[in-house]
Amino acid sequence: KFSRPHRLGFGSFNPTGKIPLGLKRKGLRIVVTGGAGFVGSHLVDRLIARGDSVIVVDNFFTGRKENVMHHFGNPNFELIRHDVVEPLLLEVDQIYHLACPASPTNVVGTLNMLGLAKRVGARFLLTSTSEVYGDPLQHPQKETYWGNVNPIGVRSCYDEGKRTAETLTMDYHRGAEVEVRIARIFNTYGPRMCIDDGRVVSNFVAQALRKEPLTVYGDGKQTRSFQYVSDLVEGLMRLMEGEHIGPFNLGNPGEFTMLELAEVVQETIDPNAKIEFRPNTEDDPHKRKPDIGRAKELLGWEPKVSLRHGLPLMVSEFRQRIFGIGILKYP
Ligand code: NAD
Ligand code: UDP
Ligand code: UDP
Repeated sequence: KFSRPHRLGFGSFNPTGKIPLGLKRKGLRIVVTGGAGFVGSHLVDRLIARGDSVIVVDNFFTGRKENVMHHFGNPNFELIRHDVVEPLLLEVDQIYHLACPASPTNVVGTLNMLGLAKRVGARFLLTSTSEVYGDPLQHPQKETYWGNVNPIGVRSCYDEGKRTAETLTMDYHRGAEVEVRIARIFNTYGPRMCIDDGRVVSNFVAQALRKEPLTVYGDGKQTRSFQYVSDLVEGLMRLMEGEHIGPFNLGNPGEFTMLELAEVVQETIDPNAKIEFRPNTEDDPHKRKPDIGRAKELLGWEPKVSLRHGLPLMVSEFRQRIFGIGILKYP
């Protein structure tokens, strides 16, 4: 059985987040599971820039070494190829848990990281999702809404996996006094996003760049709210450092239909891009838009980058990855 070590000295977690006057803040030891992925790699950039020591744990299921390669050789950076479904022993102050294997293993990975947090007394942040609201009957969605998820639907493995991960997180908080934080992330886009995992923003951008038609599923009147990745990372860090457990919605309240999104992509990349309608997937949520009142009030956070400003930043990085031209530079 693992024992809980004493947490002394400067390197250990300082729950007030305040640095005594005149003393330089010593770097924290932070694990980012899924740190080689889209969101994780941007988070790692910010933590390293802040002076913390970062351990990325990733099995490269959807993540890529290229996303974190610029930190190789930095003594404050470590990369471990590991599947979080297997137990892991580390000594750290904070755990950002972003690794999300397909459920039900998502649940096992979360359990292991909570077990790790419990053993070493680290603060644990779960990246949950707006999908916990399912096809919502409340609009916009507040954190108090319990959601409308079909437990046996085609999408339910992901949704229910994250709902269970939230439950486990709260149980470890209540039962084992683990310090926890829960973020419910709404659709996020930006550089380093997976090009071919079928998400709407990456699909439209890649299609427009390749001169292929933009595939709109269903009638294209369903809505989503798209958040630029740097806004999300700022929210995650404020949540981790702050005093509130959450859950917090982290998303951009700017709501777009898929047809409106296609128009923005046309304006940004190619006004002549064609639109092609395809049948929609089953159980597709009709609308989604975060109420971010809680994050505004308690974290002092709100998104700063609109879709029209964020999209071009993603487009230039996609262009470089798809056509292999130019020097890879991440905003
Ligand atoms: P991503 O796929 O780019 O990142 C996930 C990372 O986890 C990848 O690097 C992958 O290789 C790694 N991973 C997967 N299974 C693993 C395992 N068993 N062990 C170790 N590593 C594993 O996805 P992302 O968009 O960066 O998402 C990060 C987190 O945010 C996820 O938990 C996701 O559910 C959540 N989220 C993202 C969005 C979004 O719009 N991007 C929205 C809601 C929630
Ligand atoms: N665990 C881990 N790293 C640790 C501590 C625990 O991966 O440093 C795993 C452990 O293997 C177990 C899970 O986390 O599968 C839950 O641990 P906990 O101690 O809460 O549960 P228990 O072992 O008591 O069932
Ligand atoms: N979608 C689309 N064309 C695509 C991919 C997705 O119209 O090429 C639609 C999809 O049906 C859904 C919305 O875009 O209504 C958002 O899909 P995504 O998978 O990006 O996010 P999620 O459904 O998880 O919010």
